[in-house]
Amino acid sequence: MLTLSGLQPLKTRAAIPHELHPISHCFRRPSLSFSTVSPRNRSNGHRSLCVRALDAAQPYDYESQINERFERSVKLRIAIVGFGNFGQFLAKTLVRQGHTVLAHSRSNYSDIATEIGVSYYSDPHDLCEEHPEVILLCTSIISTESVLKSLPLQRLKRSTLFVDVLSVKEMPRKLFLQNLPPEFDILCTHPMFGPESGKNGWAGLPFVYDKVRIGSEESRVNRCNHFLDVFAQEGCRLVEMSCAEHDRHAAGTQFITHFIGRTLGKIDLDLTPINTKGYETLLNLRDNTSGDSFELFYGLFIYNKNALEQLERLDMAFESVKKQLFGRLHDILRMQLFENAEDLEAPQSSNGAVEESPKRQ
Ligand code: NAP
Repeated sequence: MLTLSGLQPLKTRAAIPHELHPISHCFRRPSLSFSTVSPRNRSNGHRSLCVRALDAAQPYDYESQINERFERSVKLRIAIVGFGNFGQFLAKTLVRQGHTVLAHSRSNYSDIATEIGVSYYSDPHDLCEEHPEVILLCTSIISTESVLKSLPLQRLKRSTLFVDVLSVKEMPRKLFLQNLPPEFDILCTHPMFGPESGKNGWAGLPFVYDKVRIGSEESRVNRCNHFLDVFAQEGCRLVEMSCAEHDRHAAGTQFITHFIGRTLGKIDLDLTPINTKGYETLLNLRDNTSGDSFELFYGLFIYNKNALEQLERLDMAFESVKKQLFGRLHDILRMQLFENAEDLEAPQSSNGAVEESPKRQ
């Protein structure tokens, strides 16, 4: 069974000298400021203590440094296609960082878009004619192919960066390579958090990416790195990993997590006055996964070729634990049954007294 601790990236940032890494400066973003320290970081011992001490000494300078960094960073023109739950969640951060954000979706989200500070286009032709530098696909896994094929690619700039955030990775990689013209760049990503798990900030949360096809021209390399910078600036842990490897790991971690969370949602788990920490973890898991659409969950299953195997393993493990429990119960019942039977069948002496049966060894 794969575990989270077994999630080893093919190429991690650590493998590249810090000063040579194109987005290395961002990994040092002091995102653990006094205002953004998450509970996870609060309990993180020495390091977070040091950070808080620094914050406490220079709160104003520290905050203003972060703001300056946002201001200095290159601004992109990003079009979100699929403006549902996750698309809106990402848009809020993109807007906060000062990027120009456009959006299009099947449903009409113009009011929400205005509230967030996003320009909304009901017609994909109008969106593409705005010539965004980046198209960010946030559609459901199972609708991605039809949405991609319906986009008027001819209206986009000759070189556009296509990014997806799907929770499976091999499928969009193949789809992009098959359907996008060669001058378009392709970056497959998976922010491994959502509106629930990322509601208190993204610091320390994993962001997986695979530069599937990025042209060698400086402007194209930079555009891709500027996009990755969005997540680095928020303090995400950027993990470069092939789409295939992502899917292998994700089946054992993400799919199983969603499956267990949804299964827990099928039984009534209530708060009690004697909740244990373990029980609260279960409630959190249920709550974290129940907000996601069934389409998302189904996509994790149907478009990750490793998911079925993990489900079978889980099923076998479930049966094996049940067997262990019932096996023990069976032994006890058998013992009681035969002891009673022996008592009943014990030979009687001539005066009617039951003779003592030989002691069980
Ligand atoms: P979702 O149910 O997976 O996707 C909803 C989005 O898909 C909406 O924008 C919806 O458009 C669009 N859509 C669905 N069916 C469509 C169709 N037939 N034609 C056109 N558009 C269609 O929920 P989500 O949470 O927003 O996820 C979006 C993507 O982000 C997914 O690929 C998911 O894997 C990925 N992701 C999600 C999370 C998360 O925590 N939620 C985390 C990481 C990555 P309308 O709303 O306009 O109908």
